[in-house]
Amino acid sequence: MARAHTITEKTNIEDVFRLLPSQKKALQKLRLVTVHDLLFHFPTRYESASQIQKIGELAPGDEAVVYGTITSIKATKAFRKKIPMTKATVKDHTGTIEVVWFHQPYIEKLVNAHQPVELRGRVGKKKSGELFMANPKVKNVATFPLVTTTPLARADIGAKDTPLMLPTYPESRGITSRWFYYALRKIFVEGVHEAMEDPIPQAILKKYNLPSQKTALVWIHEPKSEADSAAARKRFAFEEVFLIQLERMRRRRAYRENAAFEIDIDHAELKGFKTRFPFSLTESQERAIEAIIHDFRKQEPMSRLLEGDVGSGKTVVAAATSFAVVTSRPKGQDFGNLQAAVMAPTEILAHQHFNSFITLFSHLPIQIGLITGSGCKKFPSKVNPRIPTSLSRNQFLKWVENGEIPIVVGTHALIQKTVKFKHLAYVVIDEQHRFGTMQRFKLLNKKNLSAVPPARAGGAHAGQAGGIVPHLLSMTATPIPRTLALTIHGDLDLTLLSDMPPGRKEIKTYLVFPHERQYAYDEVKKELRAGRQAYVICPRIAEPDPGKQQALYAKSVVEEAKRLKEIFPGHTIGILHGKMTPHDKEAIMEYFKTKAIDILVTTSVVEVGVNVPNATVILIEGAERFGLAQLHQLRGRVLRSTHQAYCYIFSESKTKGALARLKSLKHARNGFELAEEDLKMRGAGELYGRKQWGISDIGMEAIKNIKMVEAAHTEASALIEKDAAFENHPLIKERVDAISAKMHFE
Ligand code: ADP
Ligand code: MG
Repeated sequence: MARAHTITEKTNIEDVFRLLPSQKKALQKLRLVTVHDLLFHFPTRYESASQIQKIGELAPGDEAVVYGTITSIKATKAFRKKIPMTKATVKDHTGTIEVVWFHQPYIEKLVNAHQPVELRGRVGKKKSGELFMANPKVKNVATFPLVTTTPLARADIGAKDTPLMLPTYPESRGITSRWFYYALRKIFVEGVHEAMEDPIPQAILKKYNLPSQKTALVWIHEPKSEADSAAARKRFAFEEVFLIQLERMRRRRAYRENAAFEIDIDHAELKGFKTRFPFSLTESQERAIEAIIHDFRKQEPMSRLLEGDVGSGKTVVAAATSFAVVTSRPKGQDFGNLQAAVMAPTEILAHQHFNSFITLFSHLPIQIGLITGSGCKKFPSKVNPRIPTSLSRNQFLKWVENGEIPIVVGTHALIQKTVKFKHLAYVVIDEQHRFGTMQRFKLLNKKNLSAVPPARAGGAHAGQAGGIVPHLLSMTATPIPRTLALTIHGDLDLTLLSDMPPGRKEIKTYLVFPHERQYAYDEVKKELRAGRQAYVICPRIAEPDPGKQQALYAKSVVEEAKRLKEIFPGHTIGILHGKMTPHDKEAIMEYFKTKAIDILVTTSVVEVGVNVPNATVILIEGAERFGLAQLHQLRGRVLRSTHQAYCYIFSESKTKGALARLKSLKHARNGFELAEEDLKMRGAGELYGRKQWGISDIGMEAIKNIKMVEAAHTEASALIEKDAAFENHPLIKERVDAISAKMHFE
C-alpha cells in the first residue's frame, strides 16, 4: 500500500489498495473506480453480529449462529434404523461441535465436507456432557463474516470496536463484503470522508434533522446501531430524490425558455369535432382537453403528462387536441397549417392510431400520414378518397417537410433525422414509458423549418436552436404512486383521467387452478358462441439473449395455438409474436379486428394500447411471471366496451405469496391500487418500468415516504428559484449534470 500523497475521494481505488486481478475485475463490474465510488457503494443489509458465536464459546440452551467448516458428514439411520439421520462435525478456529439432522436425508446433498457453512439453531447437551446442535438451519456461505475471522483480524478491528452490525455489500465474483469492510475502514482512518464537501446545504440538513455527509457515510458503512444506519439511509434517500427533482426542474425550466407556437382555438369548430364521436366525453376527458388548450394559448411550450388507467380513453384526448392544432394557422400567416406528430411504441399501435385518426378526420380536408420501419402511408388516397394509400418514403418526407401532411402518426421512425417538419407545433407520445429519454428528446428537438416568427418573437430565446419547440403531451397508463410521479415526472404537469367511460362493467377476473382448466375453457366457449372474441397470452419467457427469447416465445405461441385448436374446434385461431414481420402482424390484427379470427394467441405484445372492443375474454398463462401492473395492462385489453369482460388467470404456482398477489387482481379497482400493492408485496424494485427511472434502491426507499418526497420537492423548488443555474452550488451542479448525462445515455 505504498502511496506518495494523501488519498482523496478522487483517488483511484487501484492506487490505494493492492488488488488481485480477480478483485480488479470485480470492481470493474461493479463500476467502482474511485474512492468516491467506494464510499457510495452502500451495503444492502446488515447482519447483527451480536448473535454470532464462536463454537468454543457455546453453552447449552443458546440460540446460536455459528460459522464453521464441515469436517465430516454422513447419512445414517437412527433409533433402530427407522429414522433417517445425517450427522456432521463442524469446526471453527475455537472448537468443534457435532450436528445432527433428523428426517432430512437431503441435507447431505445440500452441504459438502470442507465447505464453509452457517448454522442457526439451539445448542443442546448430551448425557456425556458434549454439546451438539439438532436440526439447525444450514446455509452454504462463500466466506465467514468479520467477527469469526482469525484473532489477528479481530485485533485489527480492535476488540472493543467490533462492529455490532455487519454490512453485506452487493458483491461480485472475486470481491467480498469483507474486502469492502476493510477497504472502507482504511478510507475512514485516512479521514477521506472528513475532507469531502456536503452537497446538501447545511440549513436543509438542520431543518429535517438529517446527518451530514461525513457522518452518514460512517453510519451507513459501520453503524453502531440500527438507528445509525436508518438515519444514514434516510439522508442518502433524501439526497437522491432531491437531486433528481432538481434535475427535472432544471429541465422543465430549460424547455419552457423556448418559444412555442401560440395556438388560437376555434371553440365552435372543436365542439363540432367532439360531437362527431359516437359517445360523449367523460368529465375528465373534457377537463384534460381544456387544460391542454389552455396551455396552447400561452407563449411557452406545454409539457404535460396525461395519466389514465387502461381504457380510460386517452386517444380521444390526443385526437381532439391534435384537431385544434392542425386547424390553426401559424400566427400572422393566412396559409398553411400547424402540424402534429403522434408517436407510438409499436407498429401495431401506430397503425391503430392511424386508423382511429382516419375515422375521426375523414370528413375534413386534412391529410394524415403514417411512418413506420416498414413503410409510409397517407390518407386519403388520390385515387380513392375513402382509403389510405402507400407511398414512397421520399414523397412522404417531402410532404411532411412542406407541411402538406399536417398529422403524422408513427413509430420510432419519426425520430430519424430525415423526417423534417415545417410547423411542428404539437407532439403526442403515447405509452411514453416505452421510450427512452433520448428518443423523446429527439422528437421534441425536431427543427422547425418554419420561417414564421415564434409567438415570442424577439424574446430572449426566440430563434435559438431553430427557434420553436412543440408543445408536448406524454400519455401513459403506468400507474405509479404519487411520490414517484412527483419525483421522476417533476418536469411535467400532470393531468389525470380519473373516470372511466360510462357503462364499463368490472372485468370478472378468475384465478384458475390446473384442475379447473376445462371449466374455464367451457366458459370461454360460451362467450365465443355469443359472438365475442378472446386473447390467449403465453407466459413471459426470461432469457438474457433477446434474440433467443423471441424465438422461444414464438415457439410457445405456435405450440399453444396447436393445443387450443383441439380444445376450440370450429373457432379460428390466429397467432401474433415478435418474430413475425410487421406486415404479417398488421394483417393478423386486421383479421382479429374484422372478426376473421376468434382467438388470438399471442405474447405480451398486445399489452400496450391494442383496442379491439369485441374481444371480451382474456386468458393469461403463467401469470405468476408477470408483475401486477402488467397483468392489469394486459387485462385492460378487454375493457373496451359495454360488454361484460372476463379475465382468466392461469397459474402453476403453489406458493402462498404468489397466489395472494394474483388474488389481489380480483378486487383491485384500478392500476393505482395494484401499483401500491406491488410496492408493498414485492418492493419498489418490481414497479413497472422501474429501470427507466434511474433511481437506486436507496432512492426507492424515499418513494415510500410521502413526507420526505414532499420535503425534497419544497427544498428543490426553493433552491432552483434562487439559483437556477446552481452558480452558488457547484457540487449540486456537478451531481445534477451527472444525472442528466446518465439519462441521456441510457
Ligand atoms: P386508453 O386510455 O387505454 O388508450 P383508448 O383511448 O384506447 O384507451 O380508449 C378505449 C376505448 O374506449 C376505445 O374503444 C374508445 O373509443 C372508447 N372510449 C373513449 N372515450 C370514451 C367515452 N367517453 N365513452 C365511451 N367510450 C369511450
Ligand atoms: Mg392507449
